[in-house]
Amino acid sequence: MSSNDNHLTTSWGAPVGDNQNSQTAGTRGPTLIQDVHLLEKLAHFNRERIPERVVHAKGAGAHGYFEVTRDVSQYTKAAFLSHIGKRTPMFIRFSTVAGELGSADTVRDPRGFAVKFYTEEGNYDLVGNNTPVFFIRDAIKFPDFIHTQKRHPQTHLKNPTAVWDFWSLSPESLHQVTILMSDRGIPATLRHMHGFGSHTFKWVNAEGQAIWVKYHFKTEQGVQNMDVETAARIAGEHPDYHTEDLFNAIANGDFPAWKLYVQIMPIEDADTYHFDPFDVTKVWSQKDYPLIEVGRMVLDRNPENYFAEVEQATFSPGSFVPGIEASPDKMLQGRLFAYADAHRYRVGPNHNQLPINRPQCPVHNHQRDGAMAYGDNGGASVYYEPNSFGGPKESPEHKISPFDVSGQAASVAYDHDDHYTQPGDLYRLLSEDERARLVRNIVDSMQPVELVDIKLRQIGHFYKADPEFGTRIAEELGLSVPAAL
Ligand code: NDP
Repeated sequence: MSSNDNHLTTSWGAPVGDNQNSQTAGTRGPTLIQDVHLLEKLAHFNRERIPERVVHAKGAGAHGYFEVTRDVSQYTKAAFLSHIGKRTPMFIRFSTVAGELGSADTVRDPRGFAVKFYTEEGNYDLVGNNTPVFFIRDAIKFPDFIHTQKRHPQTHLKNPTAVWDFWSLSPESLHQVTILMSDRGIPATLRHMHGFGSHTFKWVNAEGQAIWVKYHFKTEQGVQNMDVETAARIAGEHPDYHTEDLFNAIANGDFPAWKLYVQIMPIEDADTYHFDPFDVTKVWSQKDYPLIEVGRMVLDRNPENYFAEVEQATFSPGSFVPGIEASPDKMLQGRLFAYADAHRYRVGPNHNQLPINRPQCPVHNHQRDGAMAYGDNGGASVYYEPNSFGGPKESPEHKISPFDVSGQAASVAYDHDDHYTQPGDLYRLLSEDERARLVRNIVDSMQPVELVDIKLRQIGHFYKADPEFGTRIAEELGLSVPAAL
């Protein structure tokens, strides 16, 4: 170690002579522009923030590993799932959805559950939530939906009228709304909730045979929720409660773990199942497609640096590896574009070169340049294709598995509209205490809605899910179930 190793330096590495007093013309004189250390320090400070995520801004992350516990090679050729005992390093980011970077953790909101597996065939991102379904099923509705979750353009306040207006006019949201308003809408900690891939994906094995798959991460800590009074108090007293809980648990060696299960549907069942299995507002009944254990995820290491690892982490549902592919789910199809695009804007076109995002396997392609190109930028290697200089070659064995499509290119609605059976099933599996709290949470949330027509429209949806459900909400709101539904 040289005597210079502990010197404070500028960003260009030169020793700093004085970090407490700026250069001025005499004791009382104005500050000199020649104090380039001061200029750089102030200018860099002004640029410390990158745009926060429009959704999922507030998050907490952790490193860990995934270990295969069951041989699923008959279903997928993904190398990281190839045999029992195989371990893959991973990083997870949990988040709330609607609030800003500094918002409270213990609010009623879905939680993001985004996992990056650093596999030897590239990074696989499973970008899910703690709920198995979503509010909408076509990405074209996403910006409108999120606008209703955000602030009113004039008052800059949250707007329950917009929230329930949109939901009541988008009945496909009913299933997710019911889950959100249930006890699970406020998890006790990030460790005490399940995670879901939510969408349907395709797995392909080494013989090219495909199946449809849904992912479930089941918490080994058990599901625990937070009652609304405690959550409201903690949101005020300790808004970073979930973030701290996760960090402390890992720091204390109490490593949280989840078992990963999948549901597997034969490709041909998609044509005959009683609803569209690519509709992300629906679950596949576990009675039809039971859970199959795949492996175990353990979080055992905290980030060293929040900004570098958690804020700059970029997840995209389109980061697939061989053996895992997209399904025609219209919400997923939109996310395949939107997530990577958000990161190109937020972090930059070379976000996959940053240490937290870069694959832990070699990367060979013809991308060059762009803002913040990191490393050697491909050096002198060949930078186009086709070429005569031995550049990296495509591997035909990794083409996607083909599947048949039919119909006209048009703006097409889903071909079924039963938005009620599954939320009703959920209501009916709850205990009386859980139902009472569900009804109370909905009533409290709907109370401030300005138009009675919106409330009546939404009551109609709850009634169609289960007459008791709708009637209880109507009564507690001092209204009647509309006669014509
Ligand atoms: P099952 O009885 O096989 O499964 C019921 C599921 O409901 C379990 O996964 C259970 O999770 C979960 N659950 C229990 N309480 C809640 C809650 N408050 N919020 C969210 N999930 C909860 O029945 P089906 O598979 O036929 O599904 C019946 C209904 O259960 C569905 O309509 C759906 O609303 C809900 N559900 C279904 C899931 C699925 O993948 N099929 C997943 C999650 C919910 P746990 O075992 O952890 O208690």
